[in-house]
Amino acid sequence: MLFSTDPEHIAISKSKGIKIDWKDGHRSEYGLKYLRDKCPCAGCTGAHGTPPRVPEPEQPANPFQMYQPALKMLGVDPVGNYAIRINWSDGHSAGIYSYDHLREICPCEACQPNKKGDPLPGRPQ
Ligand SMILES: [Zn+2]
Ligand SMILES: [Zn+2]
Repeated sequence: MLFSTDPEHIAISKSKGIKIDWKDGHRSEYGLKYLRDKCPCAGCTGAHGTPPRVPEPEQPANPFQMYQPALKMLGVDPVGNYAIRINWSDGHSAGIYSYDHLREICPCEACQPNKKGDPLPGRPQ
């Protein structure tokens, strides 16, 4: 095990997202939209045979959506000592984000080296 999935400290901003300091010293910062897109519940991942929810691409400001309220977290509740449940302003609250899952989806470059498309050149073996 090279990394810890135990959070040392969790900072929650209902309008911005979640920051987690892990016990191994790593820090993860998750934006709201990113977390919503990564919702692990059956409805969003298609575990019951429905097609997986396709993350919406970032779009330029659309005049027809100007009255749509911005996505927010209404609340974040701990689930046991292994996960958190996020209650979204769009009415969705089925997703239980285990710390394992959160660590896995950490959006930082060290954790998601392929996110930008190209592999890092000259990685030491
Ligand atoms: Zn979901
Ligand atoms: Zn990371």
